Amino acid sequence: MNQTDNSISDSSYFLHKLESNVFLYKRILIILGIASLGLLIRNYLVFYHVYPIARFYFYIYVISTLLIPATRILLPILYRNKRYLFSNLTILTSCAILFYSLVLMSVLDSISIKDYKYVNDYNFTAYIFGLVLVGFTLRINWKISAGIFSGGIALFTSLYYRYTPTEFNLQSILPLLIINILAVYFSYSREKFYLILFRDSSRYRNQSIKDSLTQTYNRRHLSRLLRDCFILKKSQGKPFSCIFADIDHFKSVNDRYGHEAGDRVLRQFADVLLHECRSSDSIVRYGGEEFLMVLGNTRASEAGTIAERIRSHVETLEMSGISPGITSSFGITEAREDDSEDSLIKRADMLLYRAKEEGRNRCCTDRLTSKNHIVLP
Ligand code: GH3
Ligand code: MG
Ligand code: MG
Repeated sequence: MNQTDNSISDSSYFLHKLESNVFLYKRILIILGIASLGLLIRNYLVFYHVYPIARFYFYIYVISTLLIPATRILLPILYRNKRYLFSNLTILTSCAILFYSLVLMSVLDSISIKDYKYVNDYNFTAYIFGLVLVGFTLRINWKISAGIFSGGIALFTSLYYRYTPTEFNLQSILPLLIINILAVYFSYSREKFYLILFRDSSRYRNQSIKDSLTQTYNRRHLSRLLRDCFILKKSQGKPFSCIFADIDHFKSVNDRYGHEAGDRVLRQFADVLLHECRSSDSIVRYGGEEFLMVLGNTRASEAGTIAERIRSHVETLEMSGISPGITSSFGITEAREDDSEDSLIKRADMLLYRAKEEGRNRCCTDRLTSKNHIVLP
């Protein structure tokens, strides 16, 4: 296994781990939500007479739980055609609803402290409910979550001063602060983490489809390229062609000048292919010194012209320490109605073989005649 394969397996292992963690995390949030509902019902049923504030808890809980799915229905109506904005706003609104409900529950707790001294676990419902909020913040920007929380803390403090009989102390605001800090920290680290993951995954993806020596695509990517071309041909009638390119007597370059010089020649040859093709064309390193060019929206005649241009370019290429230079041969064919990936590649390979047989340094196509071109029946 080479370096690239290791990176891919690392990355897919990493992604798999992430997915299972997210799954676990969602389950924990659901359990917390149910636990807070359980506590709430318990408060409501058991302490109803001594602790009537439990009723308001219940209202707040139910209203906020209903408001969240409501935003999912209302926001798309308000922001039609703006899916991105809508999905961000849904998360943001849900987060704000949850947090401000938590603030209200905490204020209710504080108000009730004096009158219902013996209710020791009054805070649990609110704070377990608050932890569900931490889950939501994983989806929003940390600066926005910090903004929502600062507003919430300010509201809590002002309501506390206005309505609470007891003196304001750190203990009363501490659970809220802890939940805030946790939430902002989670959204900050999530953002950083996704940034790294995105950067790595695009790098790994690039590595996984490219040949490290020549920077052309590797065989793994060929099927995908051809499949896309066949789809375009079938659905929109767009023709496409393939060129099989091969360096002549490359083995003797290796034998005479060594493997490293051979690598240099390969790189230079690939550079010519990359330079001569258009942005809509793709080049795949098919084997050692064989390259398959896939030319989108191109007829065989046009592909033949391109191949001929490459052939003459390669012929005149100056290569340090290698004399005489190299030549190359080409098999060109256009995809047919009844072609499969295999039949197309086989035909291009057969045409290349013909070009070799006819004396090398030439192009062979099944549909075109010109200098250096052989035409098959
Ligand atoms: P032909 O004109 O018929 O194509 O002859 P050839 O010598 O080019 O073809 P052959 O298939 O006999 O030899 C291909 C050689 O390419 C053999 C192998 O050593 C060399 N080769 C394959 N991959 C690499 C590579 O990555 N680096 C180097 N330096 N050589 C390679
Ligand atoms: Mg060769
Ligand atoms: Mg070969």
